[in-house]
Amino acid sequence: MRHHNPTVHLLGLIGHPIGHSVSPEMHNFWCERLQVPYRYMAFDVAPHRLSGVVPAMRTLRIRGFNVTIPHKEAIVPYLDRLEGAARILQAVNTLVHELESGTVIGYNTDPFGFTAALQSHGIQPTGVAIVLGAGGAACAVVFALLQYPLERIIVFNRTVQRAVHLVEQLAPLTHNTVLEAYAWDPDHIDRAIRRATLLVHATPLGMVPHTEVLPVQPESLHDQLTVIDLIYNPPETALLRAARLAGARTLNGLDMLIFQGARAFELWTGVRISMELIETTRKMLQTRLSSGPH
Ligand code: NAP
Repeated sequence: MRHHNPTVHLLGLIGHPIGHSVSPEMHNFWCERLQVPYRYMAFDVAPHRLSGVVPAMRTLRIRGFNVTIPHKEAIVPYLDRLEGAARILQAVNTLVHELESGTVIGYNTDPFGFTAALQSHGIQPTGVAIVLGAGGAACAVVFALLQYPLERIIVFNRTVQRAVHLVEQLAPLTHNTVLEAYAWDPDHIDRAIRRATLLVHATPLGMVPHTEVLPVQPESLHDQLTVIDLIYNPPETALLRAARLAGARTLNGLDMLIFQGARAFELWTGVRISMELIETTRKMLQTRLSSGPH
């Protein structure tokens, strides 16, 4: 009778805090739509409890987790191995538990999510790209951008050592692209943006509830620029609004979120999310995010 009553496997998200996440809604929407026997829950895991996560997956036969702030790097020592981008970034956003063997593997689907978002909007980066921030998201973005024929990628970060570390970590992948790190200096950022073709914002500045905050001087934005803000709540940040008014092409973080989730979902369930379902999901989440505080 397995066909009528399949075992339901658990998926989830671990982070601290996890209150703002739309991932449970997105993955459960896919589980229902695609009739796959999984359910996705968010778990707030305090850092001092992190060592218990992988043993709990084995004990409870949990198929997989997404991993978010602040555990993406800290979970790595507990995993059996890393695959693909996770190995280079030494950071994961997805855990896959091979239930037969008990092996727990770390993946990082954020670079794929970013690249797929670019592709789905026909964005082909060339010239000079600026990345604001040097955290987990910025690392994933730079990793993804190194696949494109960019002349230069310039990373600015408040804590300059973190930007320098990012550049050192990714230096072996640079090919013909110059990869540089600088401290967060508004005038330097302003000058760099004037010569850039792509600006990616990967800090929380401008996220709800501080939606009026602008990470750059709006006068520096121009119509030769594509501006991608990884924030998706609000859907149009003050940065994206200023960019739109300056004639720039704009994109928020929702598609990256959906595509990284779709790849994780496929790793867990073996089921691909079609472009049609991606589109439905985008509409569902846009409605959800515009219907009040999240
Ligand atoms: P993270 O690892 O904690 O890094 C945060 C980054 O923001 C660091 O570079 C940090 O600089 C910088 N920052 C924080 N507060 C700042 C401030 N007041 N002024 C200047 N810089 C500041 O976080 P993350 O995972 O990279 O996430 C960054 C952003 O990307 C968040 O808004 C998150 O929502 C978004 N994100 C979106 C997606 C998506 O799929 N759309 C995926 C991941 C993340 P320091 O190094 O100096 O602390």
